[in-house]
Amino acid sequence: MKICVLPGDGIGPEITAEAVRVLKALDLKIELEEALLGGCAIDVAKDPFPEATQKLAKAADAVLLGAVGGPQWDSNPRELRPERGLLRIRKELGLFANLRPAILYPELANASTLKAEVVAGLDILIVRELTGDIYFGQPRGIEVRNGERVGFNTMIYSESEIRRILHVAFAAAMKRNKKVCSVDKMNVLECTQLWRDVAIEVSKEYPEVELSHMLVDNAAMQLVKAPKQFDVMVTGNMFGDILSDEASMLTGSIGMLPSASLDANNKGLYEPSHGSAPDIAGKGLANPLATILSAAMMLRYTFANEATACRIEGAVKKVLAQGFRTGDIYESGTKRVGTREMGDAVLAAL
Ligand code: NAD
Repeated sequence: MKICVLPGDGIGPEITAEAVRVLKALDLKIELEEALLGGCAIDVAKDPFPEATQKLAKAADAVLLGAVGGPQWDSNPRELRPERGLLRIRKELGLFANLRPAILYPELANASTLKAEVVAGLDILIVRELTGDIYFGQPRGIEVRNGERVGFNTMIYSESEIRRILHVAFAAAMKRNKKVCSVDKMNVLECTQLWRDVAIEVSKEYPEVELSHMLVDNAAMQLVKAPKQFDVMVTGNMFGDILSDEASMLTGSIGMLPSASLDANNKGLYEPSHGSAPDIAGKGLANPLATILSAAMMLRYTFANEATACRIEGAVKKVLAQGFRTGDIYESGTKRVGTREMGDAVLAAL
């Protein structure tokens, strides 16, 4: 298993170091190679996604990414910004499926702004289509019509694009509680009527999985009203952008949330959902658990090693039960630790 490690900027190197320690501690045949992405790559190679990184990322089976970005690059021209490297690697690797679990461990129920009984034990997975929809549709632009400016975009999905993301959602549900909720706006948008039709067609290939449909406005309400009703939610790029952020905030602890972006062959890029946290970078304070949990997702989705993925997740649950907390999830009565000590605790639990 070839894994390309891209630590990136800010807290990226600190948190990926802990995930790499976890991967190395497991009995796996892995080759890990590091490369530059983001601001650090701009500083060295004047390119946020340099050629050497492109080669390594393409040759690898999976990519583990920390985070990119920081204030020192914020005034660079657009092509020379760290985030540009992120967009380019996603495009270059053909990553069309974004998987974001929102899990609230019972020990962290107080971190959420919602009542503990609404969110304790929450475990949902949002599957978002990443390369289509109104974000990429043509025609698009701003132009003058009848003497005033108009702005326009095109919401467009082909049935093959819908089909392949639905398959990802159903396959994920087969590994979970076998429920898929497809989110659309079919009462107003033809494009999403097609989405719903294709969802029904694809569901016939997964007779064990229960398919339901929900309009996106209701889905946004249900996520805060009764989020535990969901198992897997699947939706297009724009609705998924909004709902996945909403779902992640149900847990209240950004340092705990992993994510995966997959191509058609389950090659994937795995990264925490948070950014490079420049405010705490280099201080050994960052929570490495989202990155460690991203490595678990890598084992589950790219390497089909469910047992080892569960072992890592079990170790994370154990350290939380033991009371270890980084600053972002600390509350009185628990043990405050830094990045390295949290990594040590996970290794000990493993
Ligand atoms: P951020 O997620 O980096 O930080 C938001 C807040 O959460 C900060 O207070 C930070 O200290 C805290 N935080 C984040 N991760 C944490 C962790 N693991 N442990 C403890 N606390 C943590 O978001 P931001 O401040 O809006 O952005 C900072 C930089 O990150 C920007 O340059 C932005 O462009 C970039 N960014 C990168 C990605 C990515 O690489 N995928 C995603 C979002 C933002």
